[in-house]
Amino acid sequence: MTDNTVKTIPCPNCKTPVPWDTHNENRPFCSDSCRNKDFIAWANEEKVMKGNSLYDGVLSNELLDD
Ligand SMILES: [Zn+2]
Repeated sequence: MTDNTVKTIPCPNCKTPVPWDTHNENRPFCSDSCRNKDFIAWANEEKVMKGNSLYDGVLSNELLDD
């Protein structure tokens, strides 16, 4: 058993301890879904920062509908 030698880090998304293993292609995330969530959040920030007109239009429509 080599459990004691495996380093773990908290998943940036859900804080689940993740083995820091070079074979874990999702690191530092615990899963593919957490990695995708973080990427989507990052991508949305990029769009807002760039003032993407399409993204702004979608938000405006949602606000008007409400
Ligand atoms: Zn996670």
